[in-house]
Amino acid sequence: MSQVVGRFAPSPSGRMHLGNLLCCLLAWLSARSAGGRVVLRIEDLDAMRCPRAYADLLEQDLTWLGLDWDEGGSKGGPHRPYYQSERSDIYNTYYQRLVKLGVVYPCFCSRGQLHAASAPHRSDGQVVYPGACRDLTAQQAAQAARRRPPAWRLRLPDSLTLSFIDGHMGPVTQDLAADCGDFVLRRADGVFAYQLAVVVDDALMGVTQVVRGGDLLSSTPRQLWLYRLLDLPAPEFYHLPLLLAPDGRRLSKRDGDQSLEHLQSRYSPQQIIGRLAYAAGLQSAPDPACPADLLPGFSWDKVPRQDIRLPEGLF
Ligand code: GLU
Repeated sequence: MSQVVGRFAPSPSGRMHLGNLLCCLLAWLSARSAGGRVVLRIEDLDAMRCPRAYADLLEQDLTWLGLDWDEGGSKGGPHRPYYQSERSDIYNTYYQRLVKLGVVYPCFCSRGQLHAASAPHRSDGQVVYPGACRDLTAQQAAQAARRRPPAWRLRLPDSLTLSFIDGHMGPVTQDLAADCGDFVLRRADGVFAYQLAVVVDDALMGVTQVVRGGDLLSSTPRQLWLYRLLDLPAPEFYHLPLLLAPDGRRLSKRDGDQSLEHLQSRYSPQQIIGRLAYAAGLQSAPDPACPADLLPGFSWDKVPRQDIRLPEGLF
């Protein structure tokens, strides 16, 4: 069997919070417990929101917590660069393959137009693309391009249902055409979309196992379709339950007390890891632990599938 390659793929737009941390811990445990390697890729496609200083801090935070990686970030490695902001030429190569397949078209809809359209909304709040620019003639497109630069969308078949087995959540099926619609590959400002970048990167970096937040479960069918069109090998996916505050609210970056900056002033790395592992079902008590201590007992079966509510007073 080929070696497991997992990854940390953070978007450092601020300090890590408990949700990111749980994701990195599980990605690390899942890969290391299978004797695998870990890649660190900095997902700073939105370079303005993710200054390099945050990426550097993130590396320090991971190291402080005892979550190590084999290649990537400032460490470099055979698949460099590991910063998405420096990989646009690579994304462009794959984007051009899709253009050659004839499945990319310009979309001139503004955000306001998309939201105003009576299009249904997906469960994650995104608008299902109503297809307004799908069938523009070359002349109509040229005219519209004089007013605003277009985003570029992937044309999906009229009916497209994708299924896969999530390593943690089990079988997932999505009617991609109805639940999502043609999606953006390249933004109007020229930046390649996350959906394309993540597929190209995971494939080229040899990632075999993607562990990430459950909020990205609904993106996976889009990514699987891109793997298919680009003839790239798809990894296995493990999506995590959401981590909720003790009162059931979704944790967000606005919860300053859940940010690593704040946690570091109160707890040792072993206390943070141990408590998080307890919340995620990996320890029966919130005892201090370093990531390596959790390896022998690690199993995905112990991690809940439903949202995890942090016990009151744990952090
Ligand atoms: N960069 C994304 C995040 O930080 C994760 C994307 C992924 O794991 O595919 O939420």
